[in-house]
Amino acid sequence: MILNQIEASPTTMFLKKDNRPFLIAGPCSAETEEQVMTIARDLVDADVDLFRAGIWKPRTRPGVFEGRGSVALPWLKRVKEETGLRTTVEVANAKQVDKALAFGIDVLWIGARSSANPFSVQEIADALKGVDIPVMVKNPTNPDLELWIGAIERMQAAGIKQIAAIHRGFSTYAKTMFRNEPYWEIPIELRRRMPQIPLFCDNSHICGNRSELLNVAQYALDLNYDGLMTETHCDPDHALSDAMQQITPATYKLLIDKLDFKREMTDDSDFIEYMDSIRLQIDGIDLEVLNLLSQRMKLSEEIGLHKKHNKISVLQVRRWNEILEKAKMMGRERGLSEGFISNYLSAVHQESIKRQAGLKSEE
Ligand code: PEP
Ligand code: MN
Repeated sequence: MILNQIEASPTTMFLKKDNRPFLIAGPCSAETEEQVMTIARDLVDADVDLFRAGIWKPRTRPGVFEGRGSVALPWLKRVKEETGLRTTVEVANAKQVDKALAFGIDVLWIGARSSANPFSVQEIADALKGVDIPVMVKNPTNPDLELWIGAIERMQAAGIKQIAAIHRGFSTYAKTMFRNEPYWEIPIELRRRMPQIPLFCDNSHICGNRSELLNVAQYALDLNYDGLMTETHCDPDHALSDAMQQITPATYKLLIDKLDFKREMTDDSDFIEYMDSIRLQIDGIDLEVLNLLSQRMKLSEEIGLHKKHNKISVLQVRRWNEILEKAKMMGRERGLSEGFISNYLSAVHQESIKRQAGLKSEE
């Protein structure tokens, strides 16, 4: 369905070909003309659709490499002339937009730090009024779907017709196995709200290392993402930015070869019949669970009244702890993870205590 919508829309740049994801690759930063040309030449036979390179780099701390700036734009022009690869750079303000357009860059992208700032996004949108160029919008660094949607809407309002969203993960204070936590539910909700916008996964900035790149890319394809953006460098260990997560074009080709491309649907009747029979059972179970949840809430309200009449507090921490620990144990015996049980029961418990305290539950 998504694929059909993409085909039916005026979007031509970001088209999936034969169910193959749209592939964006290239270095985190353009460092030298030689480096950019070497990587581009090595990527040609990887069937890459778009060559990326950062020219102006948003770095967290000052005093480190901040990109070569406009001197690198002619290098990208040469990439296109000599390899035929179309090019994309990150732009963060109107001046950078003008420079990128002057050098015939094919696609612009808005980085995560800019997406988080409506002033920057609007400045870019104003600079793009009347310009027909595809734009990719990365998610903001903070896990705020409305901000991401808002940035896409600002591009739409400026008249940009070809827009794609790039999921690059979200900053967290706690250190996890990811450089940027994926919070997959956010791009899934973006897809539900804006099904016509192609969705790409920047596995490099989600992972921050090389070992998980394949797993994250495969997971994105399992979720029916339309493309991937992956940082590639001829000498990753000595890259001037994001050295830990970059891979050589040769490793990149192996990674793409290992991926299983997925279709959203098929018209094979055996497949559909089997799916339908299992879905019928799932629907039945969902109904049972809903009925049980409703019964559980009624009992909980009854206890709530009892507590109220006896001036007993709604929250009973010891009881909550017992329920949780028991459920985790029983869940484990049934192949359900502790994390899942704890998320599920916390939602149920929150709803119960809100009802007992006479608070309105969330819509
Ligand atoms: C990048 O793509 O190199 C980059 C700076 O990305 P992000 O905006 O996702 O941090
Ligand atoms: Mn980078």
